[in-house]
Amino acid sequence: MTLPEAPVLAPEAVRWQIQVEGAVQGVGFRPTVYRLATELGLAGWVTNTLQGVVVEVEGMPEVLEEFVLRLQHEAPPLASILALHAEPVGVLGERSFAIRPSASDGARRALILPDAAICPACLADIRDPANRRYGYPFTNCTHCGPRFSIIEALPYDRLHTTMRDFALCPECRCEYEDPDDRRFHAQPNACPACGPHVEFHARGAHGWARTATHKGAIPAAAAALRAGQIVAVKGLGGFHLLCDAANPASVKALRERKGREEKPLALMALDLAQARTLIEPNPSEETALASAAAPIVVGTRRPGSAVAGEVAPGNPTLGVMIAYTPLHWLLLCETGRPVVATSGNLSDEPICTGNDEAVERLGGIADAFLLHNRPIARPIDDSVVRVMAGAPRFVRRSRGYAPAPVRIGQDGPPLLAVGGHLKNVIALAVGRDVFLSQHVGDLETPQALAAFARVIDDFARMYDVQPTALVHDLHPDYASTQWAAQQARGAGAPCLAVQHHHAHLAACLADNGVEGPALGVIWDGSGYGGDGSVWGGEFLVGSASGAARAAHLRTFRLPGGETAVRQPRRCALALLWEIGADTATLADFGAGERHVLEQMLARGVSSPVTSSAGRLFDALAALAGIRTRAHFEGQAAMEFEAATDLTERGAYPLALSGDGSILDWEPLVQALLDDRARGVPAGIVAARCHRGLAAAIVAVAQSVGQTRVALSGGCFQNRLLTEWTANALRAAGFEVLLHRQVPANDGGLCLGQIAVARAAANPVSAC
Ligand code: ZN
Ligand code: ZN
Ligand code: FE
Repeated sequence: MTLPEAPVLAPEAVRWQIQVEGAVQGVGFRPTVYRLATELGLAGWVTNTLQGVVVEVEGMPEVLEEFVLRLQHEAPPLASILALHAEPVGVLGERSFAIRPSASDGARRALILPDAAICPACLADIRDPANRRYGYPFTNCTHCGPRFSIIEALPYDRLHTTMRDFALCPECRCEYEDPDDRRFHAQPNACPACGPHVEFHARGAHGWARTATHKGAIPAAAAALRAGQIVAVKGLGGFHLLCDAANPASVKALRERKGREEKPLALMALDLAQARTLIEPNPSEETALASAAAPIVVGTRRPGSAVAGEVAPGNPTLGVMIAYTPLHWLLLCETGRPVVATSGNLSDEPICTGNDEAVERLGGIADAFLLHNRPIARPIDDSVVRVMAGAPRFVRRSRGYAPAPVRIGQDGPPLLAVGGHLKNVIALAVGRDVFLSQHVGDLETPQALAAFARVIDDFARMYDVQPTALVHDLHPDYASTQWAAQQARGAGAPCLAVQHHHAHLAACLADNGVEGPALGVIWDGSGYGGDGSVWGGEFLVGSASGAARAAHLRTFRLPGGETAVRQPRRCALALLWEIGADTATLADFGAGERHVLEQMLARGVSSPVTSSAGRLFDALAALAGIRTRAHFEGQAAMEFEAATDLTERGAYPLALSGDGSILDWEPLVQALLDDRARGVPAGIVAARCHRGLAAAIVAVAQSVGQTRVALSGGCFQNRLLTEWTANALRAAGFEVLLHRQVPANDGGLCLGQIAVARAAANPVSAC
């Protein structure tokens, strides 16, 4: 914040022009300015610009100072001020204060707000039988409601949203034009008379038929849910597939039809009280659940909760979110019980957003549809957070957060970072703001790749920015890398390849507003290494401007490469083979199969060398007898963590060899095998593995000697590994950096890619 010096010989009126940057449009910021200025007897005006908000105020200097201070403290709930700059201008002798029409000149720097959960005031409106919005599922105001999911262009006004075809009725227009109303300039403002409406479609004798609309639609959908049906519901950023969470047959049918075998399904609860019947949230988890972002919070399952086992098989945690739109709230209220709410898509495909598209793609899964006629501007999946080490950490940063920027230290020309291959997120850097996209997903299908390209187009168009360079992963075969190379060639733009784990390190530093250097402990499933091998258990020293590999996990060959992701038993076999241990103890193989895999290992055929920590975890889970085959990446590691006996204090040893550059897991595996042979329970084995790995990270940090340690990579979604490592490092005197604004997994990669490109002396090379 910068303010002009007060004149020494006042008292004389002065006039300031105040530029406010940040999330200040569409949140009731101008009415707050108006109210404050009027209350303090200041003259002047306020207006929206493409860069944010500009205020001119005239009055006594000390009153202006009070105005600026109070503006920051009394800003409306969804506003966030990133920068405020005031400078003196000529006094005009104005008498009154006015809200002026929006200006539309200059570069588009105003922030697009994330979607926000229904606010308490709007909730009260839809629950009040005397209110004209009683039971109305599209109620919103400047403190809540859709934003990113309806915005088509900047500046943010109704004509640039998917609400443009709904003309405000006289009553809504009065609210919209009244600075004292909380719906003043609420762009999606609507009511039953003028706004969107819902309709219910059921399968009839001749295909889908609309059987209820308006007030009848939500009760019809609720009845279908209670009857055990699967209902596709058009929500905020796309469709969900809903079913009764307590009905095993419904959940089973949903899994079968969606082709989703065991990956946990998210739940939706009416409110915090109902969420507490599903999980046992701690205070941080409750704050996250009830926040305006309303993410899915992964919490500890409450014993005896009425949730079918099929929701999250073998998992002591449940992912729960609270009904975050009036539509969801009304539906959950009417249904009277929590529901499964999983994204409305087929496996590995993007979430559906259009009515016709959904009926076509989800018609084979859903028994009924709850549709509405407010178009969705872009697909936005739900966000997922897990509280670890005392704070919420992103598993997925999407609805409710995207496209809010992460502000970094370095300025520079516009850049586009295309992220990785799995859990893809892209980033557009404009000045010091890095705009991270919503979750795009795994770029495994043509549909996913098309969605990826659309998100990039969408961002470039909305922010009206032409990136001067493209940043991508070093992996030549990632679809994102190939896309970037092709674009760069076509546009004659330069591009920069960033090594995967270096990007993770740079992301963690940028996330924490730290320049470095630091030791980055980057543990994940896989990333293309600087030497062409598959990295994943890395200790890098450096910063965004460069990093060197100080140490890594002992490598092993992975028979079948990426196919081993779903085969923890293969990872286990690979470890045993590597150290010359007896593989016959692995019960899960036929003799012939074992022989083939060992031949592959011996000859190095289709068996890439890897230092992957993710695969090491899979192998340990298999060796501990917890899971030998997985239905999704990380399943074995998740169950390994879940099985851990928290009372066990023992730790298996690891060795630091090769002048301290190789962290050798052989002693750990030997100790594990000894324990298993003696019948030590899996929970104790799991604890000794986790504690051993945490202690080993501290040992490497001590040998490297950097006082600052950044933990990143998908393995740091493991709460025990994260907390035990962070605690042990802090106890040993290290400063520990954990992710706060972006995920530790590949969803945060694009931030690191931007940071590396910004820091590079010569940021670009031709593709
Ligand atoms: Zn509201
Ligand atoms: Zn209306
Ligand atoms: Fe990674």
